[in-house]
Formats: sequence, structure tokens, C-alpha cells
Amino acid sequence: MTYTNRTALVTGAGRGIGKAIAETLAAQGVTVICVSKSAESCGAVASAITAAGGKAIARAVDVADGAAVNAAAEALLKEFGKIDILVNNAGITRDGLLARMSDDDWNSVIQTNLTSCFYWTKAIGWPMCRARFGRIVNISSVTGIMGNAGQANYAAAKAGMIGFTKATAKEFAKRGVTVNVVAPGFIKTDMTAELSEEVQKGATALIPMQRFGEPSDIAHAVAFLCADEAAYVTGQVFAVDGGMAM
Ligand code: NAP
Repeated sequence: MTYTNRTALVTGAGRGIGKAIAETLAAQGVTVICVSKSAESCGAVASAITAAGGKAIARAVDVADGAAVNAAAEALLKEFGKIDILVNNAGITRDGLLARMSDDDWNSVIQTNLTSCFYWTKAIGWPMCRARFGRIVNISSVTGIMGNAGQANYAAAKAGMIGFTKATAKEFAKRGVTVNVVAPGFIKTDMTAELSEEVQKGATALIPMQRFGEPSDIAHAVAFLCADEAAYVTGQVFAVDGGMAM
């Protein structure tokens, strides 16, 4: 895979899947801007990448805050001259049955998981279009494809990311900017470590491969979609889920 002098911005890069994506792209020679909510987590990932000989910086940005995203994007575009790759990965869960779901549970998940994609894509996607090159990968979920009881907010946000991806893929296609979704199944991160043993057992039973995936499984799919060679792939939803959503 070829990554010609590329700079990538990865949200939620402080832990889990985003950390694996940042490390995988950095190992390919990509300069990585690691974004997370806390300065500590993205700072630790960027330091580890730099210590291993890669190029990375860290920025603490609340992706749910449109003004903060715009200010960060403007400053980073000035600092780096261009951002070629955007991975919208930051996400949260606030699970609960609909009857007990509060407005805040709904709004915070939609804002953090879906509206953040609108903020970053608007801020960075248009400069990509002007440069006639860009790779945008949105990390959705099998829940956005299949639905899941107790996750109406999360499923709506993740399904919304798929529609958003297809619309922006069509808008940007003529300008050399691709927009795709990677939809993970159950992956071993802090997010799934929160699930009870019973829920983890029930989830495993739904996976044809009978196991949770690793963050690196998602990172490799993302890395392919970000490569120069993936130029003719856009508007697609790649499930990386051990066969769960087929
Ligand atoms: P995770 O381990 O909980 O890590 C989430 C990352 O997102 C952290 O770095 C966190 O920042 C960052 N983040 C959360 N809210 C943010 C905000 N408002 N502003 C900036 N950064 C924020 O999650 P994960 O399991 O790696 O999941 C990554 C993505 O994959 C999510 O979109 C998730 O929905 C999706 N996904 C995960 C699974 C799975 O099984 N794990 C399955 C399907 C989809 P801090 O480090 O500062 O806390």
C-alpha cells in the first residue's frame, strides 16, 4: 500500500480502535494527528508513536463541540498545510431500553458519534476537495446495520453515519475524495469490557467466528481504505465483524 507524504487525523485515538488505527497508519509512514477528549490519552499514543520512530502529534478536542472542532481544524490545516486522511472514530455508548432513555442519553450519543462527523468532514473535507485528494473513513458499527435492543441512540447514530457517508461520497467523488464506512462487530476494547459476562457470552453466540475481534482487525481495513490504491472505492460499508452482519 502507498501513502505518499500523507497526514492523517484520527479521532478517538487515545484508546482502543482509534489507537490501533493511529499506530497502523504511523507504521506506514503517515504523519498522524491523534485526537481524543483527554490530553493524556492522545498524548501517550502520540509519544509512543514518536518513540517508535513514527511521526505524530496530539490534540485534545471534544468532537461534540462544533466550535472546538472548527478551531482545531483551522489551526491544524495552517500548521500542516493539508490533511489527506480523516478517520471519524471517536464514539461513546449510553445504553438503555428506550422507555428509560433520557434526552441526555440520546443527545450526547447523537452529538458525539454522528454530529462530530458532520463537523470534521465539513471542516476538513472541503480543503481535501480543493486539493483533489482525500480519504475519509467513518467508524460505524454492526449495530447501525442490524439494530440492537438497548441501543436505540447508538444504532440511530451509527446508521446515520452510513447515510452521511453515502451522501458525502457522492458529493466528493469527482474531486478525488473517497468516503467509506468500516462497521466493526464486537472488538476487545474498553467499550466492550464494560459489558457484563452474560452480554459478552450472548454476543459471542451471534458471531460465526465465535470470538471478539482485535482493534488491529479494524485498523488494517481502515489502512487499506486510506491508501492511494483504494482510489476507486467510495460510499461502501465494510463490516469487519467475524461474519456477524452477513
Ligand atoms: P473506546 O475504547 O471507548 O475509546 C473511545 C475513544 O473515543 C477514546 O479515545 C475517547 O477519548 C474518544 N472520545 C470519546 N468521546 C469523545 C469526545 N467527545 N471527543 C473526543 N474524543 C472522544 O472505544 P472503541 O471501542 O475503541 O470504539 C471506537 C469506535 O468504534 C467508536 O465509534 C465505537 O462506537 C466504534 N465501535 C466499537 C466497537 C467495539 O466493539 N469496541 C464495535 C463497533 C463500533 P479519551 O481517550 O480522551 O477518553
